[in-house]
Amino acid sequence: MNDSLNKKIYSNFNIVVDQIWLSLTDRCNLACEYCCVNKKNEDLGLEEGKSAVNLLFRKGKKRKYLIFSGGEPMLCFGILKRIVRYANREARKRKTEIKYTIVTNGTIANKEITDFLIKFNFKVIISFSGQRESHDAFRYDRKGKGSYDLIINNFKYFKKIKSDNLIISFMIHPQRVKQMFEDFKFICEIGFNNLYLCSVSGVEWNSGAYNDLKESYVKIQKHVVNNIKKNKFIYVLFPTRLINQLYVKSSEYYSCDGSANCPLEFRLRVLPNGNISLNLFSLNELVVDDFMLGTIKEGFLEAYLGCEFDPNSSKCGLCIKNLERKDKRYEYDFLKMKEISLENAKIGKEANLLLCDSELNFSFAEHLFRESKKDKRFNKYVKGCESVLWGA
Ligand code: SF4
Ligand code: SF4
Repeated sequence: MNDSLNKKIYSNFNIVVDQIWLSLTDRCNLACEYCCVNKKNEDLGLEEGKSAVNLLFRKGKKRKYLIFSGGEPMLCFGILKRIVRYANREARKRKTEIKYTIVTNGTIANKEITDFLIKFNFKVIISFSGQRESHDAFRYDRKGKGSYDLIINNFKYFKKIKSDNLIISFMIHPQRVKQMFEDFKFICEIGFNNLYLCSVSGVEWNSGAYNDLKESYVKIQKHVVNNIKKNKFIYVLFPTRLINQLYVKSSEYYSCDGSANCPLEFRLRVLPNGNISLNLFSLNELVVDDFMLGTIKEGFLEAYLGCEFDPNSSKCGLCIKNLERKDKRYEYDFLKMKEISLENAKIGKEANLLLCDSELNFSFAEHLFRESKKDKRFNKYVKGCESVLWGA
């Protein structure tokens, strides 16, 4: 590894980076209907991957997070293994802990892959939308063949991973919200307890679909509560995050929380072409320029050199505002969103806001926390919320 090059290009970059998303490739074996990745057949090089690791470890001693994504990162499993081994060596040298996550479509798995993920204690996030009809409606290959069977077949591997480390990323689509609760239950029934509910971006919602979404979501909340009473814990990402943020105040959890932090600390993305960006959607060229910070080979743009984060300075205040304004996906500012009521929020592309940040989630988180004060099953649930967070 060319350490001197790394030292030079990062020498005037002062920010402590705690989390990097490494997008190993923009290739994918699927062609999902709502995919926003502009696939140009680019893969991240090993040297660029190692350089990103150096950037992560450059400053700060606390826990670091490396998150592998794509396209489909399992297509680059060889490079992934080498980057992880390198990162582990660096972590040992610097007496720093490193946590790994991979975001995968779940279609590529075998014993070797699973053993590796277990050995390095990976959190594994699998995109899966429940029953065959719901999943295959949008997640298929280039010939239109659904990916449900491949994923179900691979569960025999994924189930070897400890359940805390397995997370299903459940994509919500307006055309399937009526069945959403059934799909949610199906995922729980086949043995998964951690679910991220994310709405598909860029699709239109009408008021019928929106009402179905609300109804389904209320049913999901009841299902989670009934299961807690049976001492069975199902964690749903956004309420779980809120509980941590508002009540437990976990020191581990620092991103997407609306707190005053320099966004470079926890939102850095390294793309397959080596660009450093603040937004994963830079994989779709539309937002590239707005979020470009530099390149992994040449270092950061001049605007970010010499920066020192000071939450009280007008420079940082303006910088964060500017990024928020640009980032159409920066709505995950929970505290601000608390002020948005379901009645006032707009229907349409902002349905993701309603789901993620609305009163529904706030009141649910509040309910769980209130119950935890008087019921030890809820108390155990609230404490367990922390274990499903992955720092992203
Ligand atoms: S699995 Fe992900 S990257 Fe691949 S086509 Fe689907 S949405 Fe796009
Ligand atoms: S000016 Fe912006 S990038 Fe620089 S430290 Fe402040 S918030 Fe971070």
